[in-house]
Amino acid sequence: MATITAFHSADEEAKPGQKRMHHTNDSCTEGQKIAAAQRQESTGGYRRCVDCSRMDEIEALRAAAAR
Ligand SMILES: [Zn+2]
Repeated sequence: MATITAFHSADEEAKPGQKRMHHTNDSCTEGQKIAAAQRQESTGGYRRCVDCSRMDEIEALRAAAAR
């Protein structure tokens, strides 16, 4: 589990507005479904995936505890 550069799928804009999202964690199952060819390294202006938000938070807490 690691926080990574924000990315989204090139197919994202074909989805209804509410369902569009970007990912920021390499352990996200939704993010892993995005094929390399479809992967765009930016937020695309979409909201962040809920799973990624949760995992990034855990990641940040772990990093803080390790210091
Ligand atoms: Zn995600």
